[in-house]
Amino acid sequence: MLVRPFKEPVYITRPILPDLQEVSAKLKEVWASGWLTNNGPQHNILEKELLKVLKVSGLSLFNNGTIALIVACQSLSLSGEVITTPFTFPATPHVLTWNGIKPVFCDIDPVTMNIDADRIESRITPLTTAILAVHVFGTPCNVQKIQEIADRHGLKVMYDAAHAFGVEIDGEGIGNFGDISMFSFHATKLFHTAEGGALTFKDKNLKQRIDLLKNFGIKNEDEVAMPGINGKMNELQAVLGLVVLEYVEEERKKRKVLLDVYTECLKGVEGITVFKNSSNVRDSYQYFVIRIDEKAFGASRDKVYSEFKKYNVFTRKYFYPLCSDYLCYRQLPSSSPASLPVAHKVVREVLSMPFYGGLRADDVQNICAILKNLGK
Ligand SMILES: *Cc1c(COP(=O)(O)O)cnc(C)c1O
Repeated sequence: MLVRPFKEPVYITRPILPDLQEVSAKLKEVWASGWLTNNGPQHNILEKELLKVLKVSGLSLFNNGTIALIVACQSLSLSGEVITTPFTFPATPHVLTWNGIKPVFCDIDPVTMNIDADRIESRITPLTTAILAVHVFGTPCNVQKIQEIADRHGLKVMYDAAHAFGVEIDGEGIGNFGDISMFSFHATKLFHTAEGGALTFKDKNLKQRIDLLKNFGIKNEDEVAMPGINGKMNELQAVLGLVVLEYVEEERKKRKVLLDVYTECLKGVEGITVFKNSSNVRDSYQYFVIRIDEKAFGASRDKVYSEFKKYNVFTRKYFYPLCSDYLCYRQLPSSSPASLPVAHKVVREVLSMPFYGGLRADDVQNICAILKNLGK
């Protein structure tokens, strides 16, 4: 196949943009109600819808995923140290820092790229209160093993499920595992509300506490029960979410087709690997990520990344740099590269490729042809 540069820049994702008239029809309802935020009718409808879509028993909406995760830590009264992964978006460890908690980095699994459950116990100290794991690229963590470890040591479990919208294990919603899971509804995520997020939880008693914490702790006109924050999702976000939700299945189908095209085109390319979930897992189709083994492929990830730009293709080195290499975390004992060998290897190999419903199959074929040309 002849490789050609793209006329327009191609990025790794594009948000679902619903028909504007559908959005304005719902906005009319908001205007008529005169209610813009604070548990509005649209917010409450979206909460109910998402309970069903995510197959979870408890859910609370937020203005973004990061504030949601900050509130999750507060609602579980976490303190001291929390064990987490260095291979994630900055929000994950930062949320701990904003709670006065010390992040303790644990190495990752070489295949799933999620926190390596077998290494968690060696990170536990008398100060540890929880494990904050991330379902990186929508691949489920070893939820069973993590829960066993937590139970054995009396720890809470939180999941950053920002990439895992719609993921299920054996038909069980991913948001049901651990004490609390966080979903992000940022524009770059499969389902979005421009900015937004949610916490999900099994323990129904958590709902009241979480809802108080996201609204300044205001219990009623006479009582402020705790030092809360402003984490509320407004009606405009909720309206967008309700309309976007109607497009999610179609977008998933389109991405599934593109995933198959990528997989077919990259089959047998030496030095390029793609992770595939086992058949009992429902995919998120959030990202399409390849791993590049420099020696076997004949070009490094960084080389591929910069060469792609010449073709107007803007890939991303998610999640480079590792959180343990940030200026604010590199002095932590757990940040020592010697104790994070797998994360340091993986972070040099990963590349997030263009992946959204609006891409055509022949765009993907062209992207793969460009890639193959860069190899040996
Ligand atoms: C997007 C993302 C977040 C942050 O979510 P926001 O809604 O943007 O605050 C947190 N963790 C991970 C892994 C993410 O990808």
